[in-house]
Amino acid sequence: MTDIDTRMIRFQCPKCGHELEQTIGRLKSSDAMRCPGCAVGIHIDADRLANAADEIQKALDKVPAEITIKFFR
Ligand SMILES: [Zn+2]
Repeated sequence: MTDIDTRMIRFQCPKCGHELEQTIGRLKSSDAMRCPGCAVGIHIDADRLANAADEIQKALDKVPAEITIKFFR
């Protein structure tokens, strides 16, 4: 567990706009999180940027170009 893993990042659910926050450690370790607003499953592929929390935050602030957000039901 590194400091980066405890870093909280915030983003909006791309489906319903509900504000979500999750630590990078959780994003890396868990397969998915679930939006409390619309209950859609969200998987963020943070592995590639796991050592660059700032890059993750930047990417999430914009339209995520380098981070894959997948939905499933
Ligand atoms: Zn949602």
